[in-house]
Amino acid sequence: MPNNIANETVKQNNGAEQNNIRNFSIIAHIDHGKSTLSDRMLELTSTVENRKMKEQVLDSMELERERGITIKMTPVRMKYTPTPALPQGEGATQEPGGICIGSPPLEGGVRGGGDFILNLIDTPGHIDFSYEVSRSLRAVEGAVLLVDATQGVQAQTMTVLQMARDAGLVIMPVLNKIDSPLANISESKEELVKLLGCNPDDILMVSGKTGEGVENLMNEIIKRVPAPHSVLREEINLVKEEDKNNNNLNKILETTLDKINRSCRAMIFDFEYSNHQGVILYVRVLDGQIKKGDDLVFLQSKERFIIREVGYLRPGKVEGDSIEEGEIGYIVTGIKEPGLARVGDTVTRFNHELPAFPGYSEPTPLVFASIYPEYQEYFDDLRTALGRLRLSDSSLTYEEEQSGALGRGFRCGFLGMLHMEIVVERLRREFGLSLIVTTPSITYEVTLKGGAIEKVYTPIHFPEHGDLVSAREPWILVNVITTHQYISPIMELLHQHEATVLEMEDWTMGRLRLILEMPLRELMRNFFDEIKSASSGYASVSYEPGDMRPANVTRLDIYVAEERVAAFSRVIPEYRANEESEDAVEKLYNILPKEMFKVKIQAYVKGRIIASRSITAMKKDVTGHLYGGDITRKMKLREKQKEGKKRMLADGKVHISHDTFLQMMKNK
Ligand code: GDP
Ligand code: MG
Repeated sequence: MPNNIANETVKQNNGAEQNNIRNFSIIAHIDHGKSTLSDRMLELTSTVENRKMKEQVLDSMELERERGITIKMTPVRMKYTPTPALPQGEGATQEPGGICIGSPPLEGGVRGGGDFILNLIDTPGHIDFSYEVSRSLRAVEGAVLLVDATQGVQAQTMTVLQMARDAGLVIMPVLNKIDSPLANISESKEELVKLLGCNPDDILMVSGKTGEGVENLMNEIIKRVPAPHSVLREEINLVKEEDKNNNNLNKILETTLDKINRSCRAMIFDFEYSNHQGVILYVRVLDGQIKKGDDLVFLQSKERFIIREVGYLRPGKVEGDSIEEGEIGYIVTGIKEPGLARVGDTVTRFNHELPAFPGYSEPTPLVFASIYPEYQEYFDDLRTALGRLRLSDSSLTYEEEQSGALGRGFRCGFLGMLHMEIVVERLRREFGLSLIVTTPSITYEVTLKGGAIEKVYTPIHFPEHGDLVSAREPWILVNVITTHQYISPIMELLHQHEATVLEMEDWTMGRLRLILEMPLRELMRNFFDEIKSASSGYASVSYEPGDMRPANVTRLDIYVAEERVAAFSRVIPEYRANEESEDAVEKLYNILPKEMFKVKIQAYVKGRIIASRSITAMKKDVTGHLYGGDITRKMKLREKQKEGKKRMLADGKVHISHDTFLQMMKNK
């Protein structure tokens, strides 16, 4: 085997060299313009035909377009030939470690010129999806840190910056929206300089709206972001360099190199599912070349498969002969069972296995809710639907559970409230399911009489007050960035949510940053919305999980017609028992339709009725909300109502509809 494998140029099937590849991500606070900037890059590189171009083209999911947010990351591969307009000569050539476009190779063997392949991963900005961001950052060498010049650095900017630093990426500070009359360019710059410790001249300026500065940004990406390289080969070369004359060692290294050359390795950073092709992996090739027909194995699940197809994302799938070392592409596995492919896992050649790519961590669900089919006969449909969603959203977790009143359903774990809303909405839209969703809750750690310690994920399983000795709950560390004028309503709000301010820091543009800690339970009590309205939309918030701390909490149960509705149970702080009880009863009173007979709604805490109201009897029209011609569905519902009436007459139970559960789940 040749000794200098590492220095050998890896040929691309399209003629590009590895030195001409750049992998990068755009990271930013929500709404700072990532998707719009990506649009301009796609246009500039003619990646998407003009007639197919629409705003935020990478947000392809219906929900994403409706809400104007990015939910799933989207990789896209662009071909780019730097223009002669690139600042040549001094600036470009003197950049340490940089490259000069269109010139001979610089010292250190870094080359440039001709066509470049730019692999971009657009990432979601909402805090619930930071896990997606952290995964995409493992697949690239550089990050464009985009800051809206009209808003300056915001809370989520800090979080994503930390992730990019942890991943060891080259960070490129970029100010966006410079076209806007509201842009505060010099202050925003000052802030970035402080935050990154960079030179003001390192900060690039663009407008995703007008396209100004975008070409320059792409040229700078080529200059500043290093080309990908084989991690294993590089390690071997380093060892060799250190110990040149050790013959034994050299032999071992030769054998290892030989092994690498016979194998290949790729890191999975996302996947999706197709009915025809099964699981499709989105990968970053770490070592070697991956082609159709290769016999690969997942290092975690040990599942083996033969590759059916490989290719690149532009942003749709374009089949190719192979995907090369350093590149980002897709692999069709044909696998149809859920759970075998995992994000962060490594695939490698069967029988020539290379070691796993390190540093992977499983996503930790923070919010839990149970999901039941409204009618039990749809249980299997719900199971299939969750399995299907999980095939494209690996941060969704679920396990089967049984509840006396609700029948069979699933306990689901989510990354946050928005994540939960989106999953429920997708189940409803994409699978046409009617669901009962329980009040979302967090994990409590309880100590029972007799000394046993248990984790409680479901409020209904929270022990009766007589059995409980003590409870602990998760806390979070929160970052809030706001302007001075809103500080007093915000402080008031923090007090109401049991937050403790740890640090306060003055920033530019009349803003300050607060670092505080609070119970996760309080974040879920509408904290985001309240802080937005207390600051007229100007404050931004991000958070990360902290430790477990003692909690003075108890269970609140809701009874309708003398029967406990398991889905409405929740764990609350003791001192809020009255308020929560009254709110819950009042809310249910307002959304429950009138029944055929008088119905009592009651809230119980520690075996006592804390609040109560009665709904008076009235005939209800179950089909009223269904529009127009869907006569079969109407008939079905009437049948159901008849069945229901029979049931009611028999045991006096009240049927609580899908919509009621969904409304109760939502905050206020
Ligand atoms: P993302 O959440 O980071 O993906 O942000 P989007 O790309 O969806 O943009 C958020 C909003 O900012 C949209 O209303 C865009 O039209 C607007 N926007 C994005 N870039 C610019 C820009 O350069 N100038 C101006 N004036 N508005 C922009
Ligand atoms: Mg976006």
